[in-house]
Amino acid sequence: MKAIMIWLFFITMVCGSCGAQSGRAVQQKNPYYSRTDTTQLRVSDKEWKKLLDPQLYAVAREQATEAAFTGKYWNSNVKGTYYCAVCGNRLFRSNAKFASTCGWPSFFEPARSNSVVYKDDNAYQMHRIEVECGRCHSHLGHIFDDGPPPTHKRYCMNSISLDFEAD
Ligand SMILES: [Zn+2]
Repeated sequence: MKAIMIWLFFITMVCGSCGAQSGRAVQQKNPYYSRTDTTQLRVSDKEWKKLLDPQLYAVAREQATEAAFTGKYWNSNVKGTYYCAVCGNRLFRSNAKFASTCGWPSFFEPARSNSVVYKDDNAYQMHRIEVECGRCHSHLGHIFDDGPPPTHKRYCMNSISLDFEAD
């Protein structure tokens, strides 16, 4: 146990000193991250706070929204798969991504019907439908009815909630 604590401390120090945490480093310290395990996660916000980068925590667990045109994927058209940045759940394929002028990465359908779940959001005196990760229930973004065919849906996501791997 002591050895694990020292190792975790070491990882934290290395990440802290390099300034920008790579996805790999974040995944190493997050024991819930898996691209193969589809078991539902029930992890407290208190625990997520210890594991996640503060910017990701703010979006994923506190429903913050990153500023439009600032995320790393809004403008990307690289072929590949988008996973949940919190838990590794497979969320979207690049072939469902479309060029949206809204400034956030936008998709017309999820990778699997249970990749995401939906929740009513009545914040800011308007009704929107929030999209959460189907495995860890982290906030991803919102869904709107102005997307392209065939679904006419627009899954408007925060880049920081996504973890991309090119084909
Ligand atoms: Zn997730």
